[in-house]
Amino acid sequence: MVFNYKYETLLDRLYSSVKVKGIKTEVFEMPKADVVVIGGYTVLRNFKSIVDSLRRNARHLQKYLLKELAAAGSVDESGALIIHGRFSSRAINVLLERYVKYYVKCPTCGSWHTVIKKKKKVPFLVCEACGAETSIKPV
Ligand SMILES: [Zn+2]
Repeated sequence: MVFNYKYETLLDRLYSSVKVKGIKTEVFEMPKADVVVIGGYTVLRNFKSIVDSLRRNARHLQKYLLKELAAAGSVDESGALIIHGRFSSRAINVLLERYVKYYVKCPTCGSWHTVIKKKKKVPFLVCEACGAETSIKPV
């Protein structure tokens, strides 16, 4: 007989395969920069929500962006990042994607469930999904 599995067993199998599939196909949405240029300044209005969705330290992302843009800047009381100089939203989105690639996404399994830890002052990206530890360059 071909179908001699118990119904419960089949159901278990179905649920466990759905679960596995769910983890593998988990989609993280890349936050898009909300940018306005006012005079000689570029305002990244949703800086705080980007930091929250990437679960990174605001100072870390701020430092990265300002360094890559070779610009000065600061975060205002509303959580927006004010950058000195005029930059396009495209330029900022490219940097955000790069930041995610280097400092958020696990290179081993692709998960975004990662944290940055330091061992003897060397920063590591530690993946909460697969446990991989990847050394990252300091910002
Ligand atoms: Zn991983």
